[in-house]
Amino acid sequence: MADSSRRILHGLQTALLVVFFLLAAVTGTVSSGMNRSAFAGDVKVIVIDPGHGGHDHGVTGPGGIVEKQVMLTLARSIGGKLPPSFKVHLTRTGDYHIDIKYRTSVANNRGADLFVSLHAGGSHSSAVSVWTIYHDRPKAFPIYDQKRAQAPFPWDQLQQRHIQSSARLAERIGERLEKGAAGQAVDVMGAPLPVLSGANMPAVLIETGCLTHPPTARKFANTDYINAVAGDIASGIVDFFEK
Ligand SMILES: [Zn+2]
Repeated sequence: MADSSRRILHGLQTALLVVFFLLAAVTGTVSSGMNRSAFAGDVKVIVIDPGHGGHDHGVTGPGGIVEKQVMLTLARSIGGKLPPSFKVHLTRTGDYHIDIKYRTSVANNRGADLFVSLHAGGSHSSAVSVWTIYHDRPKAFPIYDQKRAQAPFPWDQLQQRHIQSSARLAERIGERLEKGAAGQAVDVMGAPLPVLSGANMPAVLIETGCLTHPPTARKFANTDYINAVAGDIASGIVDFFEK
C-alpha cells in the first residue's frame, strides 16, 4: 500500500514536471527569462563623443579634411566594432554643435560604464603628429581625499572618483593603438579637461594624431584606416573590462 502510494506520488510529480517544462518551452518564459537577466548583467553602456560639430570644425588639415567629420565617422565605426554586449550611444549623430557640459551629461544620464571623447590634434609644425590619450588628474581642492570614498565631490568634479580606472583605460587603448593603426608611441597623460571632469565613470579623451600632418591627414581620408583605428580603440575598451 505504501509502495503503491509512493509510486502514484512519484508519477504525479513526474507528470507535473513534464507539464511545467512543456509550458515553459511553449511560452519561452523559463529559458528566455533566464537568458535575458544573465545578458542584462553583462551589458556595458559606452558613450562615445565625436568632438566638435556644426560651426565648430576643430582642426582643418591639408586637402580640407576636418576633425568634426573624421571623429563622427570614427565614433560610428567604434560602435560597429564593439561586441553586441556593448550598448553604444553617441553624444552627437550628425554635424551640429553641442556644448561641452551636454556631452558629459549624456554619459551621466545614460549611466554609462565608460565615456570616450574623440579628437584629432593640430600643430603649428606640419612635420609633427602626436597621439595622446588624456585622463583627468587629481585636483588639490580641500575636500578631495582619496581615502574617503564617501567624500562629497562637486558635480563638475565627479571624475575625481575614477582617475585610476580612467588611467588604466587610457593605457589599454594606448597599447592597442601603438601596436596597431597608430604605429607609433601613444602618450598617456593627466590633464584638466572640462569634458572629462564631470563624468561619473572611467573617461578618456583620445587625440588621434595631428590632422595638420599631411601623411596623417591622407590616412584619415581613407575609411579603411578610420576603421582600423576604431578597431584598436574597441579592442582597448574590451581589454579594459577583461584585464
Ligand atoms: Zn578637437
